[in-house]
Amino acid sequence: MSNDLMGTVALVTGASSGIGAATARRLAAEGASVALVARREDRLDEVRRSIEAAGGVARAVAVDITSRAGAQAAVDRTVEAFGRLDTVVNNAGVMLIGPFADAPVGEWERMVDVNVLGLLYVTKAALPHLVRAAEDGPRRTADLVNISSSAGRVARPGTAVYNLTKFGVNGFTEALRQELQAKRVRVSVIEPGNVDTELASHTRDELRAGVEEQIRAIEKLQPEDIADAVAYVVTSSRRVAVNEVFVRAADQS
Ligand code: NDP
Repeated sequence: MSNDLMGTVALVTGASSGIGAATARRLAAEGASVALVARREDRLDEVRRSIEAAGGVARAVAVDITSRAGAQAAVDRTVEAFGRLDTVVNNAGVMLIGPFADAPVGEWERMVDVNVLGLLYVTKAALPHLVRAAEDGPRRTADLVNISSSAGRVARPGTAVYNLTKFGVNGFTEALRQELQAKRVRVSVIEPGNVDTELASHTRDELRAGVEEQIRAIEKLQPEDIADAVAYVVTSSRRVAVNEVFVRAADQS
């Protein structure tokens, strides 16, 4: 365990699986107390127990971030439990693949609700605490890290609405970065390529086999590879702002 983040508090959304769970474990190993935010309470508890078994501190906060009240409660319960908030990782997301014209409208709505609105609600609720942390926190800086995607940089057929949400996250991140620069709240975006998680499992059954076939030849990234990128961003010296990190699998084009 390093102690780069000792005395700080982090909130990670989508911490019940994949990249979010790996990131929460990594930030806890760096010394942060971590709030684990997602809907599946049993899975959050598993992550919490693994952090505690490794000597870290974590708390499960089971909420749905697509409700404004849920997002606000996630932040409020974190600050009640740990007294402050220095780092937010907006990681929760869904990807529902398929040609645009055939997709049920409910699929577009789920992606926009989680990937865009959920991220905005959590950010809005967290900002006053991040500004305070940058003024008087142990590191005199605070971090908001948005998990976008290679799909926020490169559009492909079959992911039009997912591309819309992730290109949007990139644009939002850059604008907010400039708005908060003077307050010493660093705002960063990480764009992972193919990572071995549950993400593709939510795609409709009739399309899932095709998606899996397309990426079968690639040696996928592991969630810990993206956790490494988050750790690099948030443990960097106060004088450094890592604005954007694009991490693809070595085989990925
Ligand atoms: P997972 O499906 O493993 O994780 C998604 C997480 O989001 C889960 O913890 C899920 O928890 C949470 N989540 C979904 N909906 C909500 C909600 N309404 N409220 C709160 N939490 C929610 O996939 P990944 O780890 O791969 O995905 C994490 C992020 O990484 C996403 O933003 C994704 O777009 C991005 N990404 C992933 C890539 C990949 O190849 N895997 C590539 C590029 C980007 P629960 O269901 O318990 O609520």
